[in-house]
Amino acid sequence: MTDAPLFNRLALIGVGLIGSSIARAARAQGAVREIVATARSPQTRKRVAELGIADQVVETNAAAVEGADLVIVCIPVGACGDVAREIGPHLAQGATVSDVGSVKGAVLRDMAPHLPPHVRFIPAHPVAGTEYSGPDAGFAELFVNRWCILTPPPDADTAAVERLAAFWSLIGANVETMTADHHDIVLAMTSHLPHLIAYTVVGTADDVEKLVTRSEVMKFSAGGFRDFTRIAASDPTMWRDVFLHNKDAVLELLARFGEDLAVLTRAIRSEDGDKLHAFFTRTRAIRRGILEIGQDSAAPDFGRGHAELPQEMSKPYSND
Ligand code: NAP
Repeated sequence: MTDAPLFNRLALIGVGLIGSSIARAARAQGAVREIVATARSPQTRKRVAELGIADQVVETNAAAVEGADLVIVCIPVGACGDVAREIGPHLAQGATVSDVGSVKGAVLRDMAPHLPPHVRFIPAHPVAGTEYSGPDAGFAELFVNRWCILTPPPDADTAAVERLAAFWSLIGANVETMTADHHDIVLAMTSHLPHLIAYTVVGTADDVEKLVTRSEVMKFSAGGFRDFTRIAASDPTMWRDVFLHNKDAVLELLARFGEDLAVLTRAIRSEDGDKLHAFFTRTRAIRRGILEIGQDSAAPDFGRGHAELPQEMSKPYSND
């Protein structure tokens, strides 16, 4: 807990996985004095009130931002422009307006024109999440030791950027600043392309029923496929918007990926074991690097829990 909250009133627009995690973490850390939340549907607003993760739940976006000195928009990227238009006239003098969208160039382009000059607009992206959605899915520790990337426009107020960075640090994140365009190419590589590949692999498994039945796919799902299914279970609306709004960067990296896939395809067809071995050795080193910087668990099977052996099987083997 801090003695003096960084912000007086936090307004959250959208209270799904990310918004509800921010609410829980901000409250746990005493980062703000008060939290006002709103969501699009009455069901979500009702659930947020039941969970008690905000001090007030209000019905409209305009009401939520009244008097708030920090506004964080936590909704799919494609809806951010319309929300900015709606809240623009109601924003308090000097308020910091931010978001959590997984794409930054489009958010900057769609929101900025609707925000008055008296607010500080600093887009952000916490690189943290799960495949679950909605207010029940959030938890206060989601951002701990994860990165939050701020993409302030070139003329952003330095003190406001520092204050927003302090907010994210206080709720556990490591903060980095970069341009929106650079963010979009980096995340296209580290997040958007892997999601697209996971969606494709799981879709392919579902389409090849003549070779492999759906029940076999589920029953024999090996570690690799299970990881793909987890990623491919991510929210369809969020990911539709990510691909539509980071189209150029994703298409550029998909072209590169296609070339690399063709190289591996050729190596398999021509039984070029040396090429395959060299390629897999290079990629193994990247995994080691991720473990070294503490961005994933080094536990076997990616830290998954495993069932205990039945009692009689776990006894040491004996010839008696
Ligand atoms: P979520 O759990 O599905 O919650 C989405 C929230 O946005 C809900 O409150 C929903 O309201 C609201 N919403 C949906 N469509 C809307 C629209 N057209 N207009 C206004 N509100 C709308 O999603 P999330 O995972 O928190 O994602 C929110 C944002 O965080 C997205 O921009 C995403 O790119 C970004 N993000 C996600 C992750 C992740 O792993 N999930 C990680 C980092 C960043 P109702 O419940 O009332 O429908």
